[in-house]
Amino acid sequence: MTPSQDIWDVVVIGGGAAGLMAAISAREEGARVLLLEKNSVPGKKLLLTGHGRCNLTNIRIPGNYLEAYHENARFLSSAIRKFAPEDVRTFFQDLGVKTHEEDDGRIFPDSGKAETVLQALLQKYADMGGKRNDSQPVGNLCYREETGLWDVRIFVEDHEERPILYHARSVILATGGKSYLPREDGKKAGDAYRIAEELGHSIVPLRPALAPILLSAMSSTRHTEAEGRNDGKTGTESTGEDVERTLAGVTLPDVGTTLLLDGKKTASARGDLLFTHQGISGPAAMQLSRYLPPEEGKYAPGHVTICIDLLPDQKTEEIGKALLSAMNRRPNMSIRNILFHEFLHLQKAALLVWKEKDKPANAVTKAERNGITERLKALTLQVEKCTPLSMAYVTRGGVELKDIDPKTMESKIRPGLFFAGEIMDIDGISGGYNLQNAWSTGYVAGKSAAKRSAGEGAEDDSAENDKRAE
Ligand SMILES: Cc1cc2nc3c(=O)[nH]c(=O)nc-3n(C[C@H](O)[C@H](O)[C@H](O)COP(=O)(O)OP(=O)(O)OC[C@H]3O[C@@H](n4cnc5c(N)ncnc54)[C@H](O)[C@@H]3O)c2cc1C
Repeated sequence: MTPSQDIWDVVVIGGGAAGLMAAISAREEGARVLLLEKNSVPGKKLLLTGHGRCNLTNIRIPGNYLEAYHENARFLSSAIRKFAPEDVRTFFQDLGVKTHEEDDGRIFPDSGKAETVLQALLQKYADMGGKRNDSQPVGNLCYREETGLWDVRIFVEDHEERPILYHARSVILATGGKSYLPREDGKKAGDAYRIAEELGHSIVPLRPALAPILLSAMSSTRHTEAEGRNDGKTGTESTGEDVERTLAGVTLPDVGTTLLLDGKKTASARGDLLFTHQGISGPAAMQLSRYLPPEEGKYAPGHVTICIDLLPDQKTEEIGKALLSAMNRRPNMSIRNILFHEFLHLQKAALLVWKEKDKPANAVTKAERNGITERLKALTLQVEKCTPLSMAYVTRGGVELKDIDPKTMESKIRPGLFFAGEIMDIDGISGGYNLQNAWSTGYVAGKSAAKRSAGEGAEDDSAENDKRAE
């Protein structure tokens, strides 16, 4: 039978984490499922996750999901209850993928390889008799009243060519976000946001989330004239001194970060921070990126700044006292070395706080000492511009959630159309939260779509499921 004559209960569009989970979950309900992937192989992004180790989920969910998924967290509550992190672990355990917990509740496969996770999903789906067609970029979706079916049309560049068409009772759009796309994705249309828009859905503007932050020529606070002032204040102007080349590759473990817009605290985070050639990365930086103003071009000086708290567990007064005591005990030691030995334990972090290599403690003035204490708690860096979407790990924005039923992931505008994963306007913090979004919404969308196609209605209001999760 040619594809055009074939009718599928559920067609899943997109073979990423959400699509694969949706396809398996629909198949579990006995639906005839077809998974369409635009690339030559599915799961390319999944292979990149967790630096190739795949941070599958986070065991702190659902306890912290309200903070972890920001303003749209409530939308996820039902899906996370139905398929929680523990369910994800059991699911993969049953597929032979054992997992373990690392710091901050992050869950990884014991194999240390994302490949294991992807292969387990593909094998499971194949073992269930699920059908998959790769290199199938879906370009258009259309519901036909006369047949009661969805036409799923594959995008073809050559208009002379006869388009490939599939028919489905229900369709799941699981095409992911628009950030960090592999090169192969570049040319082929498959812009699923446009497909959703054509079907009446609104798209919340796409912005970077979990992206590195681009800094103006790395500028630690100036500790020159300002410290010489007798008002005791310290300055925050750029020294103009380029230290990024020295710092690139340096990780500051467990620091606090705060994003300030025109001096107003807008967001804060805590975790490891990595210096790169262009700025800062790592969880403590990337988590702030979703709040960067989406302005074109460079930000005006002082408009967007990031403060790093190098000693987040200590109060300023305590640090001031400890610094004075250390300087008294080691009067001839350079202040940079005191910072290294007593506070930061990283030579390059000490360089950020104090640039004059050889100045001994007994030559440091009170104003300079206060400046050092201040910089240990609030090292100010100037953000250059908004990070481009292509550099972000996750996309903020997407299909507006008010038009999607959170219990089933079904469109409220187009019955029979479902969504799963990052295509929706939901993003989580770093640590396995974005994959959990894909697993939970994929699971629910697959079950609901299968039930709808079987004529049971999409509403999955299984009292048992809800009770178990409460
Ligand atoms: C470098 C990196 C590391 C990350 N690490 C982690 C981590 O460790 N833990 C974590 O929780 N999150 C991580 N994330 C985020 C996580 O990978 C995503 O949130 C998650 O993969 C989203 O899953 P998805 O299925 O919604 O989308 P995707 O994984 O993007 O899958 C969408 C699929 O749909 C296909 N597609 C798109 N359009 C069409 C079309 N028109 N027709 C057919 N197919 C189409 C795509 O080719 C793709 O295969 C990371 C992201 C990146 C970039």
